[in-house]
Order: sequence, then C-alpha cells, then structure tokens
Amino acid sequence: MTADRNCCIGAGQCVLTDPVVFDQDADGVVLVRVERPTGEAADRVGEAVGLCPSGALRIEHD
Ligand code: SF4
Repeated sequence: MTADRNCCIGAGQCVLTDPVVFDQDADGVVLVRVERPTGEAADRVGEAVGLCPSGALRIEHD
C-alpha cells in the first residue's frame, strides 16, 4: 500500500473508508499506517483506491 503524498488532495475518502490503515497529517495529506493490510482491511483498502479522487493510492502486489 503506497500513497503519493504529492498527488493527494486531502479529500479524506481513504480515512473515512479505513481509519486504521489511513490517517491524515496536519495539512490533511494522507499517511499510510499499515503498509500490508490483510483480511477485511485489505478489502476496504481496495475500496479506498477506487474512491480516492486524485488517484494517489496504489496497492502493491509481490
Ligand atoms: S482519498 Fe486520496 S486524495 Fe483523499 S486523502 Fe486519501 S489519498 Fe488523499
């Protein structure tokens, strides 16, 4: 799970989708707290990737 912090526009959709995996800094820019979410969190992260309006989120597969 990576987030391009230069691309993020601070819309907060990711944090609303999973507040454990995602957080926002004082400027509202995304922070990824869990780089390899599993189970239901992984499902929510997939949802967040689709919801993010800036395309900042990427799921990395090995
Ligand atoms: S949903 Fe996208 S644009 Fe919004 S805070 Fe998360 S990464 Fe940034």
